[in-house]
Order: sequence, then structure tokens, then C-alpha cells
Amino acid sequence: MSNGDQPTLPTRAAGRSLDPHLARYAARTAGMTASEIRALFAVASRPEVVSLAGGMPNLAALPLDSLSAEIGELIATEGLVALQYGSAQGIVGLREQICEIMALEGISAHPDDVVVTVGSQMGLDMVTRIFCDPGDVVLAEGPSYVGALGSFAAYQANVVHVAMDDNGLVPQALREAIATVTAAGKRAKFLYTIPNFHNPAGVTLAVSRRAEILQICAEYGVLVVEDNPYGLLGFDGQTYPALRSYDRDNVVYLGSFSKTFAAGLRVGWVLAPHAVRERLVLAAESATLCPPALTQMVVSRYLSTHDWRGQIKLFQQTYRERRDAMLGALDQYLPAGCSWTRPDGGFYVWLTVPEGVDTKAMLPRAITARVAYASGTGFYADALGSRQMRLSFCYPTPERIKEGVRRLANVLADELELYRTFGPVARRAVSGPQSPSPDLA
Ligand code: PMP
Repeated sequence: MSNGDQPTLPTRAAGRSLDPHLARYAARTAGMTASEIRALFAVASRPEVVSLAGGMPNLAALPLDSLSAEIGELIATEGLVALQYGSAQGIVGLREQICEIMALEGISAHPDDVVVTVGSQMGLDMVTRIFCDPGDVVLAEGPSYVGALGSFAAYQANVVHVAMDDNGLVPQALREAIATVTAAGKRAKFLYTIPNFHNPAGVTLAVSRRAEILQICAEYGVLVVEDNPYGLLGFDGQTYPALRSYDRDNVVYLGSFSKTFAAGLRVGWVLAPHAVRERLVLAAESATLCPPALTQMVVSRYLSTHDWRGQIKLFQQTYRERRDAMLGALDQYLPAGCSWTRPDGGFYVWLTVPEGVDTKAMLPRAITARVAYASGTGFYADALGSRQMRLSFCYPTPERIKEGVRRLANVLADELELYRTFGPVARRAVSGPQSPSPDLA
């Protein structure tokens, strides 16, 4: 120390981190890194960039005038309840309505087994918290939802990916993944799965596979965590039987109002086997005491006074038009050798590009060409996905989607041309940095 007993603060000049708290952080924070998707938001939201990157719901069809009147009325008449603490499990009336909604996908549940959460993201966090010790294994589709991967990393769980095809999770691949985990002397705590209109893959688990997936998990003692925020967004109004509708004892189901009503209210839920429910409530209590009464009451009132089924139909229409625009533009513009999924609900298309293109390395060049996407690597825990990208069609207008895909196709064609002409090494020298620019990192 240079000045008596005064400790010196770390400085950049000393070659150390600028964060003076570095030595204090818990080991689990090492796995907490900004997702590639979040890092993208800053650049992708510039107006000149067509963003096919984010997954923001399209709220234009919401009846804002009548909603604001309802919310005003709610505060005027029930403000002393709406602005007060409430039950950790959530308001009973809302939990009853949630059971009615889940019945649309064949679920028969009791409101006692529903825990209201601050978005289904909180449900994911709580489920991981109560089931996973550091080093435990979670099985998840490859690719998988980036927010779930973030929760698993935060609790130091290791993800083993399970392959999908156009019909969703492949049962044989699930058996093999469980066998590999068991052979390594580990135990898979749960299978995390998004059966309907998958984020990011855009595929749906075939109904004919559902019972088999559950049977495999039951056979090997693996819990199923079913995440279903898009289930009511089938473009033809079609729904699929929830995994929970086949098995009430071995499935924890996560639901959300973010895609069917308003993401900003942050209201979701977990439906759990009765015994698990108790621990979830305790976990929720320690995180938030109780979910906000106000937003729960807004959702509950909306469900009882608005034509929410009609509103969901409008959302389906909005997203169907955009899906059609994206698939049409992909067919029209993309170079040979690309392939992509054809979703019949939800927000996303998963695109695979030809050999020679690295989607993460290409991203800065795409942004320069004024189009953004989410590179596939963000959706894997094990660095796969460099020849994939997620394209979201939920938010931009159909015209902007078409223009975005046209720009993307040009960038891809340039990359492929360079690869064909110079090969992988020379291409690097010609086309600039391979790592994302600082604002994408
Ligand atoms: N699961 C999946 C598959 C998602 O796509 C999302 C949001 N994009 C969530 C969970 C979290 O949603 P929320 O917290 O808004 O309910």
C-alpha cells in the first residue's frame, strides 16, 4: 500500500476491474451475463433499422380508451384494495379466471394450485430456485428461450439441450439426453419445454408426441416444466392440449398475460402440483411479498368486462398478417441453401443459413445494412447456433418486415459471395471484424 494503512482502490491503470465490489459477489453471479438479445436492443431500436430481433408484443389493437376509463374507475371504487399489499399467492378471483383460461387447453385445475407471478419470467426463476442446486442438470430444447437460460445460469444449473425437429421435441433425443446425464452420474431435475409456437424455433410439439414425452419423464423421474405464453396465439384459432392436461402430478405449468393482453402489467402464473405450490408461495413471498394487487385487478377486470376472446382473435390476425409477410419475403428474397421454420402461431421464425455464414459475426454488417436479427448463439447454453438466427415478425408492419428481409437477403448474399471467392480465412480480412461491435457485445 502506498499511503500508510489506507487501502488503494482498484484502478484501470492497475490493470484491474473498475468494480470495487468484485471480490464480494456471490459465485452464482458469474453466470449472469447480459443476453445477446438485450445487448441488441440499443442498436436495433434506431428508427432506420428494421428490427427483426426483439420479441415485443404488438399492442396497437388494444382498446386503450376503454382500458384507461376502467383503470380510473378501478382506482376510484376499489383503490384502497388495489393499492394495498395482498396475498402472496395472488387474488382469488383472478386465480379462478386463470383456471377458466387454462381450460381452453384442456386443463382442469383448482384455483388453490395457481400462484400469480410477476410475469412468467418470475415463475421460471422461482421454479429454478426451488428445484436446482448448483451443478444440477436442466434439460431444455435446443434452441431454448433466452430468459429461461438466464434463470438456469443464475442458479448455476447446467443445461443439456434436447434436439427438436419440425414437430418439436424429439422423444428419442430426450431418452438419449437422459441416458447421457445419468451415465455422467448426474440427475436431470426437470425438462423445460415450450410446446406451442416455440420461442425461438417457431415449431409446435406434435400432439402425437405429447403423451410419450410425459411418459419418458415419468419413467426417469424427471419433472416437466411447461412454459406456454403463446398457446392461445394460433393463427387459425387452433389450440393444443397442454402437457398439464395429461398429467397433473408431474407437470409445473407456466402461463402469462404478456402475449394475450399486456406485457407491461407483468402478470403471469404458475400452476403446480399441490405440494410444490406450497414451496412456490414461500419462494414468491421471499422475492416480492406479494404480486401487485393493482395489476392483478386490472387483468381481472379486463377479463370480466372486455371481450378478451375477441381481443385475442385480433392479436392472432395481427400476427398472422406479419407471419405471412415474413414467409412471403423469405421465399422471395433469400439465397439458395437457407431453410426456415413455418410457424402457425406465436412470434418467431428460426432461420438456418448455408455453411460459410456465421450469424453472430455477420450481425454488425447486418446492422450497417439497417436490419437486425437475434443470432442463434444466444439461444443455446453451449455456444451452438452460429448458423442460425431468430427472426421476429410480431412488431414491425408487414411492409417493414418485407424490407427487412430484403436487406437481410442482400447481406447474406454478400457473405456467401465472399466465402465462395476467398474462403473462410480471407473472408475475415476482407469483411472486417468477426466479433460484435462494442454496442452489441
Ligand atoms: N417464456 C417464454 C417462452 C417467453 O417467450 C417469454 C417472454 N418473451 C417469457 C417466458 C416471459 O414472459 P413474461 O415474463 O412477460 O410473462
